[in-house]
Amino acid sequence: MTNRDAAPTVGEVSDESTFMDQIRGSGLRVTRPRVAVLEAVHSHPHADTDTIVGAVRSTLPDVSTQAVYDVLRALTTARLIRRIQPSGLVSRYEARINDNHHHVVCRQCGTIGDVDCAIGESPCLTPSNNQGFVVDEAEVIYWGLCPDCSAAQPETA
Ligand SMILES: [Zn+2]
Ligand SMILES: [Zn+2]
Repeated sequence: MTNRDAAPTVGEVSDESTFMDQIRGSGLRVTRPRVAVLEAVHSHPHADTDTIVGAVRSTLPDVSTQAVYDVLRALTTARLIRRIQPSGLVSRYEARINDNHHHVVCRQCGTIGDVDCAIGESPCLTPSNNQGFVVDEAEVIYWGLCPDCSAAQPETA
């Protein structure tokens, strides 16, 4: 049933059949809401749920918020998308997965940017003491002010 040989070339490909292949390849049944949500996450990196609901409704006007929540959970579990939740912010979703990249977050406006993995493979960072754990992932959040917010900041004497 699943045909992994037919996997599309990795890159900027983002047409509907690619999304259907991804969903099928992860063992999930292909449904229109799943395709629409995956597409929305691809075109709105680091979007929150409200933004994704809005984007999905532009193609599927009748989809419920709960249905979008359910699909986001299923796609996250299937590792087709990744959920990030910097403290103090609502959950955001992104389709850039499996590269162990990190995030820079604006403390003031919540803007999120991608920061490449420092060494190019996970785990990016080696803990000084792994306490016997086999560590396979490191997720770093760099906090600060985005260019807009730091430009608006009054000069500190
Ligand atoms: Zn900002
Ligand atoms: Zn990201």
